[in-house]
Amino acid sequence: MSTQSNRTAPSGFLAMVEERYRRAADLIHLRDDVRLILSQPKNVIEVNFPVRMDDGSYRLFQGYRVQHNNILGPYKGGIRYHPAVSMDEVKALAALMTWKCSLVGLPLGGAKGGVRIEPRRHSTDELMRVTRRFAHALGSNIGVDYDIPAPDLGTDAQTMAWFMDTYMNSVGYATRNLHRGVVTGKSLTCGGSQGRDKAVGQGILDLIEVWSRESGFPIAGARFIVQGFGQVGSWTALLLERAGAICVGVSDYRGSLANPAGIPLRRLREYVAIHGTIAGFGGAEAVDSETFWSLECDFAIPAALENQIDERVAARLTARLVVEGANGPTTPAAERLLLERGVTVLPDVLANSGGVIVSYFEWTQNKNNEQWDLEEVDARLARRIVRAYENAREVAARYETDLRTACYIVALERLEAAYAERGIFP
Ligand code: NAD
Repeated sequence: MSTQSNRTAPSGFLAMVEERYRRAADLIHLRDDVRLILSQPKNVIEVNFPVRMDDGSYRLFQGYRVQHNNILGPYKGGIRYHPAVSMDEVKALAALMTWKCSLVGLPLGGAKGGVRIEPRRHSTDELMRVTRRFAHALGSNIGVDYDIPAPDLGTDAQTMAWFMDTYMNSVGYATRNLHRGVVTGKSLTCGGSQGRDKAVGQGILDLIEVWSRESGFPIAGARFIVQGFGQVGSWTALLLERAGAICVGVSDYRGSLANPAGIPLRRLREYVAIHGTIAGFGGAEAVDSETFWSLECDFAIPAALENQIDERVAARLTARLVVEGANGPTTPAAERLLLERGVTVLPDVLANSGGVIVSYFEWTQNKNNEQWDLEEVDARLARRIVRAYENAREVAARYETDLRTACYIVALERLEAAYAERGIFP
């Protein structure tokens, strides 16, 4: 096999993910053939599908599904609805899913999907038709033992219910219920798991608890800021607040809020459920983005989009711990600055892996027709994510490298071992 690959240079986020991959691959002298295979997604699917709008007109939407790797198990990864979704972004996110699933020891591969759409501009009926047409367009590229989507930015349990229903209606009556696990992140009514809604936040809390014990810095009384107040941001903030920490800043796509005495999060969540944004909330002061990132705090949790913490933001951050709820929120230059200052960065592939871990539990429950209680889900999640953290830390010490590179190393070593044992067909 030639170990050369011929392709044009990728942009921004994808280039960053690829660079981090190469760095870890170099450190462990990853086999050339495995390096080449993992440097590209296995399958790249682009679909264009028409959808009837409420006013009777039709619009063509573009959607993507990138299946990065499935040596460890079925492809797994969320579906994003956002106007900036691009093939390169989905490729980067799909690769991150491969590293994440491998890092935390799941029998799953990596994938991601997306539709270029601003969901806030569409009615519920339009979003339902977009989702059903997207699921239909992907057709047999998705499957309970082949590729299993989940929610991501701009999608939720409702999106998954439509997706599942569309898929289940495309298979034979007799086997329909065997396909419930074709997506995860469903509501309990539709076959979801206890604890999936808060899973990313719960995993983040588990990690911060370990960090807190080790560093001797208590969570109770710690101040934190969170960027993004959606599925990941709001749950993380609420769980940290329950553990005694104080939320001094929140931001979303419309603006930022600050309150040094603590933002009342439960009330904020109720407000967001009605207004769709934190903007205009009375329990805190509206501040600009620069002020938000400069707020005096101990933990910073980016939980929105990629490339949010650049060098300028990093120079302002006062936090001693950055926990990447979002995928790819910190640029490499910003991360270098933070590490030089002694700030700990818990990288995305570890920090937000609670989502895919509990998705795996949901998939397992669906396959076995089981329902686990919340205590069991939480305990299994904590065991798995803490083990991955300890493993990565041990590798970071062994290779004298940062935690992110160590996470990639753990992930790549497992993938390499699988290729070494199985060989490459034929
Ligand atoms: P979401 O759609 O539920 O919430 C996104 C939040 O980010 C919203 O509050 C939105 O207003 C805010 N936001 C959007 N653009 C912003 C901007 N420019 N500045 C500030 N805030 C902005 O999405 P989510 O599911 O919480 O996902 C957030 C991040 O977490 C994404 O990077 C996603 O890939 C990652 N993630 C999600 C899951 C999951 O299970 N949902 C799992 C792992 C990782």
